[in-house]
Amino acid sequence: MPAPRRSWLAVVTGASVLALVAATTPAVAQPAPQAAPATEQCSDEPRDLPVHEFTDHRELGVELARIERVSDGAVDVTEVGRSNRGKEVWSARVGTGPKAVLITSEIHGNEKTGTDAILQLLDWVGTSDTAKAKRWRSELTIVAVPKMNPDGAELDRRGNDMTWDEVTARFPQLRGSEPAWNYYTEPRQGDDYSQLPGFDVNRDYNPDLSYEPKAEDFPGSSADTGWYITPESRTVRDVYKGLVAEFGKVDTYVDLHHQGACYVMPDDPSRFVTMSISGKFVDDPATMPGYEQYAEDYDLDYSKRLNVAIYNALQGRANGNPLFGNITLYPQDTNLPGTGLGSFALNGSGAVLFEVRGQTQTLGQKYRAQLTRTVYIGLEGMLSSLASGQVDHLDPAVYDTIPPRGPSIGSSGTDTRTAAAEANPEVLEN
Ligand SMILES: [Zn+2]
Repeated sequence: MPAPRRSWLAVVTGASVLALVAATTPAVAQPAPQAAPATEQCSDEPRDLPVHEFTDHRELGVELARIERVSDGAVDVTEVGRSNRGKEVWSARVGTGPKAVLITSEIHGNEKTGTDAILQLLDWVGTSDTAKAKRWRSELTIVAVPKMNPDGAELDRRGNDMTWDEVTARFPQLRGSEPAWNYYTEPRQGDDYSQLPGFDVNRDYNPDLSYEPKAEDFPGSSADTGWYITPESRTVRDVYKGLVAEFGKVDTYVDLHHQGACYVMPDDPSRFVTMSISGKFVDDPATMPGYEQYAEDYDLDYSKRLNVAIYNALQGRANGNPLFGNITLYPQDTNLPGTGLGSFALNGSGAVLFEVRGQTQTLGQKYRAQLTRTVYIGLEGMLSSLASGQVDHLDPAVYDTIPPRGPSIGSSGTDTRTAAAEANPEVLEN
């Protein structure tokens, strides 16, 4: 059914409407930071902004088919699953090398640059006759699952489109359980989930790749593992398991996200953070009761080296465009085993998070080309380092010298953020 897009004025309370009016009235001054950024005002208030320049689900299918065709078979596109509402989830595979690299985007449907960067990358590596592209194809097997949450992406929102009743219909053993903690039924980021509820798919993973949902594991919590109750996480899990069966392990897993729009560099509030990156999503499993079996394969140093390759590639391009230099480290105190990155890192994959500036409800498609380019350069640098083997010679200690993300200088939302989300920002951002 057609869902009203971000018609959030209809769902917020009267008090919140007043708050919105106040927050968007230019005359109402927010307390200015010591050194007010000269560049622009910044706000994390949700707005209804156009997103048509991004690739939608139909266009993704057309573009993947085109790339498969012009690559003359180098890129193989396969339907690997269906979303809860029946939309195709595709994988695109290129290369025949021994290192398996899995890349996913739009697990949060309002975080869209990753999909466009993946398409550009597939187009290049699938068709280029350069020595570099040939080396990628001979050393790597790249499997991309762009727009892995197509229902959320079409609704331009974070969650998928799935009710708890649909979950219990699929998993009758859960009837009578309390719904999962990451089930959205209320307004969030300007989207009304009351009519079309959904789940944060990125809390639905479990490092036990054969896990099936058990009633006693609900409602769970942010610190716990997920359950593979959504068709979208199950699809990616199955792709991952297939690669493990074929290659022994997935060398590298990259998940492409966006974060808040108003973070600034730690040493300069006039420069917004273009992207934060990370290789750390869970605490060392050797120190986590119940996770000891993952300790042997977990390799944080390798994740750090992958991030260093990305950081170096972008710093190398900062002369041409200073935005590429504004890269920071995402907060390192996260322990989220229910995320795709957390679960797959526990299975021994090098793990990389991209957090590009601004979700669609804050920046819309503003800076789309530059931010997509940022993702592309980062991925290209990492894949080149993997293909050449240089990644093995990078110093993981450099990772710890990447500047931390500075504060957010934007006016924070007063309407849609729950107290829990305020206390735990990655609930909204990761
Ligand atoms: Zn995200």
